[in-house]
Amino acid sequence: MKKHDVIIVGGGPGGLSCAKTLSLAGAKVVLLERKKTVGVKVCAGGITWDGLIQKVPEKLIERTFNEQYIFSGYQSFCFRKKYPVIATVDRRNLGQWMLDEAVEVGADIRTGWHVKELGNNLVTATDDMGKTIQLGCDHLVGADGSSSLVRRFLGIPATLTGIGINYQVPGHYEHMEWHLNTDYFGNGYGWIFPHRQSVSIGAYGSGKNMPPKLLKKQLIQWALSRGFALEGEQAGAELINYDYRGYHFGTSWLVGDAAGFASGLTGEGIHPALVSGEAVAKKILDPAYPADEINRLINKKRQHERLVRITGHYSTVCTVLMEILTLMIRLKVVDFQKQLSM
Ligand SMILES: Cc1cc2nc3c(=O)[nH]c(=O)nc-3n(C[C@H](O)[C@H](O)[C@H](O)COP(=O)(O)OP(=O)(O)OC[C@H]3O[C@@H](n4cnc5c(N)ncnc54)[C@H](O)[C@@H]3O)c2cc1C
Repeated sequence: MKKHDVIIVGGGPGGLSCAKTLSLAGAKVVLLERKKTVGVKVCAGGITWDGLIQKVPEKLIERTFNEQYIFSGYQSFCFRKKYPVIATVDRRNLGQWMLDEAVEVGADIRTGWHVKELGNNLVTATDDMGKTIQLGCDHLVGADGSSSLVRRFLGIPATLTGIGINYQVPGHYEHMEWHLNTDYFGNGYGWIFPHRQSVSIGAYGSGKNMPPKLLKKQLIQWALSRGFALEGEQAGAELINYDYRGYHFGTSWLVGDAAGFASGLTGEGIHPALVSGEAVAKKILDPAYPADEINRLINKKRQHERLVRITGHYSTVCTVLMEILTLMIRLKVVDFQKQLSM
């Protein structure tokens, strides 16, 4: 059986950034991704100025937005900066770019391999044709997203999960919009994130009080009020795990959504996945690496989770608190951009 320094399960931004960083340092890495095409993912593709915008080449940016239009049940206003607060990217293009970067420095990325079983530093994967491989490794990295098999293998539950629902509609839309209307979305939100030739319209719900079916119904109703008829259109929906309980477990590691690094407040997870993937790679290479960037992520996550907890109980309290929060952003007591970015 072939033995590798590191096996990474999952080829999203977490797994690819980890593979690239390890390979750059000369480690023997294999990444197994169950999909045939890297990058394809249900996502709004929003990236922030403090997060990913400054780390990706310009050609990947679909649209940039210096202005953010924010609506609650009782207020609406526009938040402006001199630079783009948020940009949009196409996840497939982002994934393909990250794949090229990792392969260029020697990472062995294998697509179409579904990891089915895990043992002690042993990975069993199967392809479409039913062919099975077994690989051994010194370190195992779970970068396999919100329903992570590696996390389950380690016996770590994930009870704090949000849900994101996305419709990618062809056409042009001028503004980037956030809708914090509690009647529709509880303490979550609805979004309109324009891309070059399409528009992402979706909703995020952060907890148990917003079941997926209800969120979808509310999203369709709200979208109609913004001029988008989504009934009957194809939606994409996925869980977003924000239940962080550690990332280092002996010779096993978790990054990105598998570790629960996404924000429970906004569902933002691309940048946290990339940052944690890189940091875990550095920690595998040098156990003394302090990984301060992970501590910063955790601090930000905790702030976001406090807000989710406070606003998540009763609908009237939630509405009052969301209106206060919106007012504070409007009056610039709270910096929307600083609060937002993970
Ligand atoms: C509707 C929606 C909208 C979102 N919008 C945004 C946004 O605008 N901005 C933002 O920052 N975040 C957004 N997110 C969150 C973001 O998509 C995730 O946080 C991010 O993709 C996490 O990256 P990751 O690498 O950890 O996991 P993923 O991107 O989920 O990658 C995991 C990979 O592992 C693979 N995999 C899983 N199991 C196995 C297995 N057993 N064997 C092999 N491969 C496996 C999967 O195929 C997948 O490619 C959104 C999420 C949703 C659902």
